[in-house]
Amino acid sequence: MRILVVEDEQKLSSIISHELSVQGFDVEVADDGAKGLELATSYSYDVIILDISLPKLNGTEVLAGIRKKDKYIPVIMLTARDAVGDKVKHIEGGADDYLTKPFAFSELFARVKALLRRSQNQKNETIRIADLEVDRLSHQVRRAGKRIELSGKEYALLEYLALNINQPLSRTMIVSHVWDQSFEGLTNIVDVYVRQLRGKIDGGHERRLIKTVRGVGYTLNEKIE
Ligand code: CA
Repeated sequence: MRILVVEDEQKLSSIISHELSVQGFDVEVADDGAKGLELATSYSYDVIILDISLPKLNGTEVLAGIRKKDKYIPVIMLTARDAVGDKVKHIEGGADDYLTKPFAFSELFARVKALLRRSQNQKNETIRIADLEVDRLSHQVRRAGKRIELSGKEYALLEYLALNINQPLSRTMIVSHVWDQSFEGLTNIVDVYVRQLRGKIDGGHERRLIKTVRGVGYTLNEKIE
């Protein structure tokens, strides 16, 4: 597994790169945005860890450049800012996850593993999250082995959440993926459908899988809170 780390703070990049190497990853480091973009678009990586404040090109510009060439490569943004607006902006700009500095390496490692699992899920016919099973061929859904009947839109919403396990998805992103539309006015419909879907997926289960991410939207994850 190859990981690209784009980070200009040398101390941080060497810690990240050392720890990831210990875990068996093949790590490359770029210490400015221009070099990061060049490596990201010339070689293939399984995950990219991208700082936002960088010399030459900032993280947002690097991300835009990466997404022009590759829509799917998982990208984790590192941000010193904890502003909700930034998170939404980066997620909508195509980041798969973000981590606010300072962070523990174990947290970064958990996110990297989750992203690798997500890209694996995207190749699989059946997505399994805790005791939830989503069969992408038959569109059958089971929780704890019990079949759950969903409408077409509910299924599409669940599949989109499941393919993006752990990633907070904004209402705008959900509308454009599930309804193929981008009208701002439609974002209310997302809340309605999420409520219905939650009733069917999480109703009667102690462990809730569909979570609200305040200021962003929704996510499906198996973390126990
Ligand atoms: Ca930096």
